[in-house]
Amino acid sequence: VSPVDSKKSGADHAVMREVNRSVVLDLIKQASPISRAAIAKATTLAKPTVSAIVDDLVHDGLVREIGMGPTTGGGRPPILLDFNARSQFVVGVHIGVRRTTVVVADARGAEVGRLDRATPKRKPADVLANVAADVAAAFKQAGVSLKRLAAVGVCVPGLIDFDAGICLLAPNLGWRDVDVRSPLDSALKVPVFVHNVAQTTAVAEATEGVGRGVENLVLLYVGSGVGVGILSGGRLFHGPSGIAGELGHCTMAGATERCNCGKSGCLETVANGPAIVAAAERAIAAGTASSLSGSRKKLTTEDIAAAAAAGDGLAVKILGDAGRQLGFAASWLVNIVSPELLVVAGDLGAAGEPLIGPLRDAVRELALPQAGDRVEIKASALGPDSEARGAVLLALQYSETYFRVVFQG
Ligand SMILES: [Zn+2]
Repeated sequence: VSPVDSKKSGADHAVMREVNRSVVLDLIKQASPISRAAIAKATTLAKPTVSAIVDDLVHDGLVREIGMGPTTGGGRPPILLDFNARSQFVVGVHIGVRRTTVVVADARGAEVGRLDRATPKRKPADVLANVAADVAAAFKQAGVSLKRLAAVGVCVPGLIDFDAGICLLAPNLGWRDVDVRSPLDSALKVPVFVHNVAQTTAVAEATEGVGRGVENLVLLYVGSGVGVGILSGGRLFHGPSGIAGELGHCTMAGATERCNCGKSGCLETVANGPAIVAAAERAIAAGTASSLSGSRKKLTTEDIAAAAAAGDGLAVKILGDAGRQLGFAASWLVNIVSPELLVVAGDLGAAGEPLIGPLRDAVRELALPQAGDRVEIKASALGPDSEARGAVLLALQYSETYFRVVFQG
């Protein structure tokens, strides 16, 4: 964000004030301890404007005066300012198929508390009531007043109408047209932003994970479903309604199995966690030798990934087949978006090279060389916590600028 000059842009005064405030706040956050004069110099804002904004930030508790700095040129010593990370807090929520996680973080994004519990099946109202209760409980445990909550980011494995805060469809949760925002909004009284898990994971990996510094990134999330998060020019691309990136429900030639979305032959039916487990079970039932056979408990994707890592031929073949299917679909995405980096995340991203190697080979083979040869393809670095972490980071972004400018400005 750049400072706004009202004479040049003719910007609305209230919006201009909020943008300048967020520019000053951001600088104090990055460069503290810092003086008012240094802020004026760095932002090119007029000194009286900076002073008025800083007074406001000090009044609101976001910034503290922490003492005097060294004098320069014999004048009065400047008062140094510091960002108060405990001035406000945000919450990131991951509603997963198996577990629901609530994470509380301070205004710098440092985690101060979390609660985690099993996700009740097919009862969205219960899930959302639990989330609201867990947010309050996590604040209490962390010794923070709930009044300091600024924004909540929620991620759900499904199609999200971002503007309405509604989950249109989450087949693996059994949700259809679930209003995620309203129950949380009315319980917690702060803005609530709802995204797809692939989108929040993409933000987490681009900010703190394997994609740090990468502005054009595609994240392929392979778990119980298959989703895609797209960052273009450093911004999350989710289309006008919020559902962009539903690669998992693109039809694969020759695939016929009925999908949870209502169609048949979706990528998700050949290359998600349950499809891989089913393929292993079929092969074992047909007599294929494998270290996975003879297990008394139901197989999981983790079992198959572990067997592949230990060199089991069947596990390597099954993950390789899934990797090739995902790579086939991803090659279209690479031609269309031409990202610098493709990150593979979710339960199957954790399977590593046995899945990602064949996926990479398929992209190199099938995408245009001009796009396919330059895209790096890597496993997620943040692992199973990246969904909730991305929700925290989005809530922080919104609480800082978007919320103040768009909702209050
Ligand atoms: Zn589908």
